[in-house]
Amino acid sequence: RFIVLEGIEGAGKSTAMASVQSLLQGLGYRLEVTREPGGTDLGESIRELLLTHRRDGMHDDTEALLMFAARAENLARRIRPALERGDWILCDRFTDATYAYQGAGRGLSMERIAALEQWVQGDLRPDLVLVLDVPADVGLARAASRGGPADRFESEQWEFFERVRACYLERAAQSPERYRVVNTDQPIEQVRADVELAVSGWLAE
Ligand code: C5P
Repeated sequence: RFIVLEGIEGAGKSTAMASVQSLLQGLGYRLEVTREPGGTDLGESIRELLLTHRRDGMHDDTEALLMFAARAENLARRIRPALERGDWILCDRFTDATYAYQGAGRGLSMERIAALEQWVQGDLRPDLVLVLDVPADVGLARAASRGGPADRFESEQWEFFERVRACYLERAAQSPERYRVVNTDQPIEQVRADVELAVSGWLAE
Protein backbone atom coordinates (compact mmCIF):
# COMPACT_ATOMS: atom_id res chain seq x y z
CA ARG A 1 0.00 0.00 0.00
CA PHE A 2 1.06 3.48 -0.87
CA ILE A 3 0.59 6.38 1.54
CA VAL A 4 1.42 10.03 0.84
CA LEU A 5 1.60 13.05 3.14
CA GLU A 6 0.92 16.52 1.77
CA GLY A 7 0.58 20.05 3.06
CA ILE A 8 1.80 23.61 2.63
CA GLU A 9 4.94 24.98 4.29
CA GLY A 10 4.62 24.82 8.08
CA ALA A 11 1.66 22.42 7.97
CA GLY A 12 3.51 19.94 10.21
CA LYS A 13 4.40 17.35 7.60
CA SER A 14 7.62 16.21 9.31
CA THR A 15 5.88 15.59 12.63
CA ALA A 16 3.09 13.70 10.88
CA MET A 17 5.59 11.64 8.86
CA ALA A 18 7.17 10.47 12.11
CA SER A 19 3.77 9.63 13.65
CA VAL A 20 2.59 7.65 10.64
CA GLN A 21 5.89 5.84 10.35
CA SER A 22 5.88 4.71 13.97
CA LEU A 23 2.20 3.78 13.82
CA LEU A 24 2.65 1.55 10.75
CA GLN A 25 5.91 0.01 11.93
CA GLY A 26 4.32 -0.62 15.30
CA LEU A 27 1.62 -2.59 13.49
CA GLY A 28 4.36 -4.69 11.92
CA TYR A 29 4.19 -3.45 8.31
CA ARG A 30 7.44 -3.38 6.36
CA LEU A 31 7.67 0.25 5.37
CA GLU A 32 9.89 2.22 3.01
CA VAL A 33 10.02 5.95 3.51
CA THR A 34 10.81 8.31 0.65
CA ARG A 35 10.21 11.89 -0.41
CA GLU A 36 9.56 14.06 -3.43
CA PRO A 37 11.21 15.68 -5.10
CA GLY A 38 14.01 13.30 -4.13
CA GLY A 39 14.16 9.77 -2.82
CA THR A 40 16.93 8.53 -5.15
CA ASP A 41 20.44 9.80 -5.94
CA LEU A 42 19.30 11.39 -9.16
CA GLY A 43 16.04 12.57 -7.58
CA GLU A 44 17.97 14.31 -4.80
CA SER A 45 20.18 16.04 -7.41
CA ILE A 46 17.04 17.21 -9.20
CA ARG A 47 15.66 18.42 -5.86
CA GLU A 48 18.82 20.42 -5.30
CA LEU A 49 18.38 22.04 -8.72
CA LEU A 50 14.72 22.81 -8.05
CA LEU A 51 15.35 24.35 -4.66
CA THR A 52 18.49 26.33 -5.43
CA HIS A 53 18.24 27.43 -9.04
CA ARG A 54 17.33 31.10 -9.55
CA ARG A 55 13.55 31.26 -9.66
CA ASP A 56 13.49 33.65 -12.64
CA GLY A 57 15.82 31.30 -14.49
CA MET A 58 13.42 28.36 -14.57
CA HIS A 59 10.31 28.19 -16.72
CA ASP A 60 7.19 26.83 -15.01
CA ASP A 61 7.08 23.94 -17.52
CA THR A 62 10.67 23.05 -16.66
CA GLU A 63 9.83 23.00 -12.97
CA ALA A 64 6.92 20.60 -13.55
CA LEU A 65 8.99 18.39 -15.85
CA LEU A 66 11.80 18.18 -13.29
CA MET A 67 9.26 17.20 -10.62
CA PHE A 68 8.05 14.38 -12.84
CA ALA A 69 11.59 13.40 -13.82
CA ALA A 70 12.45 12.95 -10.13
CA ARG A 71 9.17 11.08 -9.70
CA ALA A 72 9.88 8.69 -12.60
CA GLU A 73 13.15 7.78 -10.94
CA ASN A 74 11.57 7.35 -7.52
CA LEU A 75 8.84 5.16 -9.01
CA ALA A 76 11.26 2.98 -10.95
CA ARG A 77 13.84 2.49 -8.20
CA ARG A 78 11.96 2.77 -4.93
CA ILE A 79 8.18 2.88 -5.08
CA ARG A 80 7.25 0.18 -7.61
CA PRO A 81 9.86 -2.32 -6.38
CA ALA A 82 8.69 -1.87 -2.78
CA LEU A 83 5.02 -2.30 -3.69
CA GLU A 84 5.87 -5.36 -5.79
CA ARG A 85 7.65 -6.90 -2.79
CA GLY A 86 4.51 -6.29 -0.76
CA ASP A 87 6.15 -3.57 1.34
CA TRP A 88 4.42 -0.32 2.20
CA ILE A 89 5.54 3.07 0.92
CA LEU A 90 5.28 6.27 2.90
CA CYS A 91 6.09 9.23 0.67
CA ASP A 92 6.61 12.83 1.78
CA ARG A 93 4.72 14.57 -1.09
CA PHE A 94 3.78 13.11 -4.45
CA THR A 95 1.75 14.16 -7.50
CA ASP A 96 -0.85 16.07 -5.48
CA ALA A 97 1.98 18.51 -4.72
CA THR A 98 2.46 19.07 -8.46
CA TYR A 99 -1.24 19.80 -8.93
CA ALA A 100 -1.19 22.09 -5.91
CA TYR A 101 2.12 23.95 -6.34
CA GLN A 102 2.77 23.94 -10.08
CA GLY A 103 -0.93 23.84 -11.07
CA ALA A 104 -2.87 25.95 -8.57
CA GLY A 105 0.19 27.86 -7.32
CA ARG A 106 2.01 28.72 -10.53
CA GLY A 107 -0.95 28.42 -12.88
CA LEU A 108 0.27 25.54 -15.02
CA SER A 109 -2.53 23.72 -16.84
CA MET A 110 -4.06 20.87 -14.85
CA GLU A 111 -4.56 18.93 -18.10
CA ARG A 112 -0.83 18.99 -18.79
CA ILE A 113 -0.11 17.77 -15.28
CA ALA A 114 -2.71 15.02 -15.72
CA ALA A 115 -1.04 13.99 -19.00
CA LEU A 116 2.36 13.77 -17.29
CA GLU A 117 0.81 11.87 -14.40
CA GLN A 118 -0.61 9.33 -16.82
CA TRP A 119 2.68 9.03 -18.67
CA VAL A 120 4.89 8.62 -15.62
CA GLN A 121 2.55 6.66 -13.34
CA GLY A 122 0.18 4.83 -15.62
CA ASP A 123 -2.63 3.74 -13.33
CA LEU A 124 -0.61 3.92 -10.13
CA ARG A 125 -2.15 6.28 -7.56
CA PRO A 126 -1.59 6.50 -3.81
CA ASP A 127 -3.99 4.44 -1.70
CA LEU A 128 -4.14 7.18 0.92
CA VAL A 129 -3.23 10.86 0.78
CA LEU A 130 -3.12 12.51 4.18
CA VAL A 131 -3.48 16.28 3.79
CA LEU A 132 -2.13 18.32 6.70
CA ASP A 133 -4.23 21.45 6.61
CA VAL A 134 -3.35 24.84 8.08
CA PRO A 135 -4.20 28.42 7.04
CA ALA A 136 -1.35 29.81 4.93
CA ASP A 137 -0.53 32.66 7.32
CA VAL A 138 -0.21 30.23 10.26
CA GLY A 139 1.92 27.80 8.23
CA LEU A 140 4.20 30.50 6.89
CA ALA A 141 4.69 31.99 10.38
CA ARG A 142 5.66 28.53 11.66
CA ALA A 143 8.04 27.94 8.75
CA ALA A 144 9.63 31.35 9.31
CA SER A 145 10.09 30.82 13.06
CA ARG A 146 11.73 27.47 12.38
CA GLY A 147 14.40 29.27 10.36
CA GLY A 148 16.64 26.94 8.43
CA PRO A 149 17.67 27.32 4.83
CA ALA A 150 15.28 29.62 3.04
CA ASP A 151 14.15 28.03 -0.19
CA ARG A 152 12.70 29.98 -3.04
CA PHE A 153 9.10 29.19 -2.12
CA GLU A 154 9.22 30.74 1.33
CA SER A 155 9.38 34.16 -0.30
CA GLU A 156 6.10 33.62 -2.16
CA GLN A 157 3.11 35.63 -1.07
CA TRP A 158 0.66 33.94 1.25
CA GLU A 159 -1.90 34.04 -1.60
CA PHE A 160 0.23 31.49 -3.41
CA PHE A 161 0.00 29.12 -0.46
CA GLU A 162 -3.73 29.72 -0.06
CA ARG A 163 -4.15 28.58 -3.68
CA VAL A 164 -2.00 25.53 -2.97
CA ARG A 165 -4.01 24.79 0.15
CA ALA A 166 -7.35 25.21 -1.64
CA CYS A 167 -6.21 22.76 -4.34
CA TYR A 168 -5.32 20.10 -1.75
CA LEU A 169 -8.72 20.53 -0.08
CA GLU A 170 -10.56 20.41 -3.39
CA ARG A 171 -8.78 17.23 -4.47
CA ALA A 172 -9.51 15.69 -1.07
CA ALA A 173 -13.20 16.57 -1.39
CA GLN A 174 -13.36 15.03 -4.88
CA SER A 175 -12.05 11.61 -3.79
CA PRO A 176 -12.96 11.21 -0.13
CA GLU A 177 -12.21 7.46 -0.20
CA ARG A 178 -8.51 8.12 -0.89
CA TYR A 179 -7.98 11.31 1.12
CA ARG A 180 -8.04 12.29 4.78
CA VAL A 181 -7.65 15.89 5.94
CA VAL A 182 -6.18 16.70 9.35
CA ASN A 183 -6.42 20.19 10.81
CA THR A 184 -2.93 21.04 12.07
CA ASP A 185 -3.81 24.47 13.43
CA GLN A 186 -3.93 22.84 16.87
CA PRO A 187 -1.48 21.89 19.62
CA ILE A 188 1.04 19.33 18.43
CA GLU A 189 -0.26 16.54 20.71
CA GLN A 190 -3.74 16.97 19.27
CA VAL A 191 -2.33 16.90 15.73
CA ARG A 192 -0.46 13.66 16.50
CA ALA A 193 -3.62 12.10 17.91
CA ASP A 194 -5.70 13.21 14.90
CA VAL A 195 -3.11 11.90 12.44
CA GLU A 196 -3.09 8.49 14.14
CA LEU A 197 -6.87 8.46 14.24
CA ALA A 198 -7.13 9.29 10.54
CA VAL A 199 -4.70 6.55 9.52
CA SER A 200 -6.14 3.94 11.89
CA GLY A 201 -9.64 4.76 10.66
CA TRP A 202 -8.55 4.33 7.05
CA LEU A 203 -6.76 1.03 7.87
CA ALA A 204 -9.89 -0.32 9.52
CA GLU A 205 -12.05 0.32 6.44
O1 C5P B 1 8.30 18.95 1.37
P1 C5P B 1 9.39 19.92 1.43
O2 C5P B 1 9.04 21.13 2.23
O3 C5P B 1 10.70 19.32 1.80
O4 C5P B 1 9.55 20.42 -0.10
C1 C5P B 1 10.62 21.22 -0.52
C2 C5P B 1 10.12 22.42 -1.28
O5 C5P B 1 9.68 22.08 -2.59
C3 C5P B 1 8.96 23.07 -0.58
O6 C5P B 1 9.22 24.46 -0.49
C4 C5P B 1 7.79 22.76 -1.47
O7 C5P B 1 6.88 23.77 -1.38
C5 C5P B 1 8.41 22.66 -2.85
N1 C5P B 1 7.67 21.79 -3.78
C6 C5P B 1 7.03 22.33 -4.89
N2 C5P B 1 6.34 21.54 -5.75
C7 C5P B 1 6.27 20.21 -5.56
C8 C5P B 1 6.91 19.64 -4.44
C9 C5P B 1 7.62 20.46 -3.58
O8 C5P B 1 7.06 23.53 -5.09
N3 C5P B 1 5.61 19.49 -6.45
